[in-house]
Amino acid sequence: MRADPAELVIVGGGPAGMAAATLAANLGVEVVLLDEQATPGGQIYRNVSDAPQGRLDVLGPDYTAGRALVDAFRASKARHVGGAAVWQVTAQREVNYLRDGEVKSLQAQQVILCTGAMERPFPIPGWTLPGVLSAGAAQILLKSADTVPSEPVVLAGCGPLLYLLGWQYVRAGVPVRAIVDTTDSADRRRALAHLGGALAGWRYLKKGLAMMRVLRRAGVPFYEGASGLAVEGDDAARALRFTCNGREQRIESRVVLLHQGVVPNTQFTWSLRAKHRWDDAQLCFVPEVDEWGALDLPGLYVAGDGRGIGGALAAALQGQLAALGAVSATGRIAAAERDRRAAPVRAELSTHLRVRPFLDALYRPKPQNRIPADDVLVCRCEEVTAGTLREHVALGCTGPNQAKSFGRCGMGPCQGRLCGLTVTEVIADARKVTPAEVGYYRIRPPIKPITLGELAREA
Ligand SMILES: Cc1cc2nc3c(=O)[nH]c(=O)nc-3n(C[C@H](O)[C@H](O)[C@H](O)COP(=O)(O)OP(=O)(O)OC[C@H]3O[C@@H](n4cnc5c(N)ncnc54)[C@H](O)[C@@H]3O)c2cc1C
Repeated sequence: MRADPAELVIVGGGPAGMAAATLAANLGVEVVLLDEQATPGGQIYRNVSDAPQGRLDVLGPDYTAGRALVDAFRASKARHVGGAAVWQVTAQREVNYLRDGEVKSLQAQQVILCTGAMERPFPIPGWTLPGVLSAGAAQILLKSADTVPSEPVVLAGCGPLLYLLGWQYVRAGVPVRAIVDTTDSADRRRALAHLGGALAGWRYLKKGLAMMRVLRRAGVPFYEGASGLAVEGDDAARALRFTCNGREQRIESRVVLLHQGVVPNTQFTWSLRAKHRWDDAQLCFVPEVDEWGALDLPGLYVAGDGRGIGGALAAALQGQLAALGAVSATGRIAAAERDRRAAPVRAELSTHLRVRPFLDALYRPKPQNRIPADDVLVCRCEEVTAGTLREHVALGCTGPNQAKSFGRCGMGPCQGRLCGLTVTEVIADARKVTPAEVGYYRIRPPIKPITLGELAREA
């Protein structure tokens, strides 16, 4: 397969990717940015440039703010290739992607991976029933097509995105039957230990409190410290059951939206066999990078939520740092120039990251919502339950890769993307060892689905 040469390839057009591309292009580097979405924006600013005023009004000023990043990116000489699903990045920096059914290939001098975050799995009884969605998925429908549920919804879990969606639904006129919050007083006490950082990031807190006020004013019932969550229903969701303040609760709803935070999308970094570590504050694996976001592989960088959850503003700053690292590696700017430009970016980044320990402690997902009971499905693609996984462990299965051989766990179309963290934690819990000791799936390309026909046509 012929690979076209490219100076810098960026995978992912969210805040990290756009900021990296804009800066590198403005420094004279030839940049190609690939993203499977048609337009730049990433998760937070999905479709922002095409959004009509009504949608901007519903989604709020933090969404609209993304237009400035998109405009700067478009004004730069960086080339945007939308609709490009990258299915492989090699350690030699060959980037293979699929676009309009055609396989294309780039041979890059430098690569920055900005593939962002994905929602943490929320494996509770009934989570696979029709009518149960993740809050992020529901928000994608809103951002890309103004689509909202036609009947009242229940939102359950924890984390900023859950309340943000509730707030956006109230503005869109969607009846929110309840917000069932798993955050409890122990979480609040743990978070208080990080109050200093939270006060430094007071803007985030102010926004969060204002959002809660709107929700309460709209009369949305809040259930705090909810436990024992289960979605009831035979062939579709009928109600959410849980316990709150010692009382059993049942809220009827055919639409249940679950969310308990986001975790880095590490499919590429794992497939590259880069080093990772378990981050116990964010309960996920993160790739090991240096101060520029460089992996332990030459010419490969990671920026944004893909290297640890920091939010959109931090992602854009990390994108700039990775761009400076990559541009200086091409020889276009000297190390002194790189460091001079990086200093204010680093200072701003550390301000944005100061609130993280507070948020991580406050919205730490509960073990019962991460490590499910025996009858709950863990791998949705291959229909493997937590109980089956535990049986495998009893038979000598030590980690996710063995779980594949024992029962095809993680071998379906999503390639373990959805179940990976749950599988690690279920096995770690059963073996009474740490998730770091259990490890993760050995991810292999294709990272995105590609047919043999598409591959063979190119060959
Ligand atoms: C579903 C969802 C909704 C969110 N909504 C909000 C919100 O409304 N407000 C908020 O503050 N935060 C939100 N977040 C968190 C927010 O995404 C991040 O803080 C921020 O966007 C991170 O920026 P990023 O540039 O690192 O990655 P992202 O913005 O996630 O961008 C990553 C990009 O990489 C692309 N990509 C990934 N894999 C491939 C591949 N194999 N081939 C091609 N392209 C690929 C994706 O299409 C995406 O455009 C959301 C997160 C998720 C998962």
